[in-house]
Amino acid sequence: MTKTIFVTGGSRGIGAAIVKCAAGKYNVCFTYNKHKDLAENLEKELGSLGVVAVQCDVRDEKSIKNAVEFAKKRFGKIDILVNNAGISKSGLLIDLDEKEWDDVFAVNAKGAYLTSKAVLKDMLSRGSGAIVNISSIWGEQGASCEVAYSSSKAAVIGFTKALAKEVAPMGVRVNAVAPGAVDTDMMKCYTEDEIKDICSEIPLGRLAHPEEIASAVLFLAENEYITGTVLSVNGGWNTTNN
Ligand code: NAP
Repeated sequence: MTKTIFVTGGSRGIGAAIVKCAAGKYNVCFTYNKHKDLAENLEKELGSLGVVAVQCDVRDEKSIKNAVEFAKKRFGKIDILVNNAGISKSGLLIDLDEKEWDDVFAVNAKGAYLTSKAVLKDMLSRGSGAIVNISSIWGEQGASCEVAYSSSKAAVIGFTKALAKEVAPMGVRVNAVAPGAVDTDMMKCYTEDEIKDICSEIPLGRLAHPEEIASAVLFLAENEYITGTVLSVNGGWNTTNN
């Protein structure tokens, strides 16, 4: 029987690449928040391969429950969850207001918790399932002017490692991918010159293509003996000595 993958934030960027990579091999239910147009286009493009879109704000438990129910009604069950939806907020910590901090955590950290909770009960009772969380190089190494984002992505790593231990005895695996700089809308806050500077620090000399993150996500979802792992997909970028 074809397995089902549920991807949050699949309307664009890395999430859309995961949807495309999984289409044809899995039933795919992906969520969007604001970009209904992009989600509908992707659904149209891949609908014949069993890809459906549903609106969901991962800050809102009810919205997540509705989206998960939608996927279950359509495909029966969810075998793989990818917690990909995320936002970033750049700037000095002293200029960051409480609402901005809370929002970054609500999407990146609490969103992963709420969505995992919504799918876990079924996975635990079946004794199988896989969750892949999208962290970030900044969650591993920290970044100046990205303190809230880095902290939220470090929380995702802690969440991944702790939950992996908690649910492994029941046959559910939890891993994370920590991308470096990826060529998506999230990088649009940087000028061309800033992107060049970033690339000059990356040993492989370029940003990642979203598809390169997507294949790492599916690798972790599929390998039956990996759990509690954070896979860095960052072109060899190590900023800890900067
Ligand atoms: P992106 O292009 O900005 O796309 C973000 C996705 O998240 C969109 O699908 C968006 O939906 C969704 N989203 C945002 N807020 C949401 C909310 N409240 N509820 C539900 N969905 C929401 O970002 P990306 O670069 O693909 O990033 C994907 C993930 O990778 C994020 O977790 C990000 O932190 C992480 N990451 C990215 C990079 C990078 O360099 N790009 C590096 C490391 C880690 P709408 O389109 O409907 O708004």
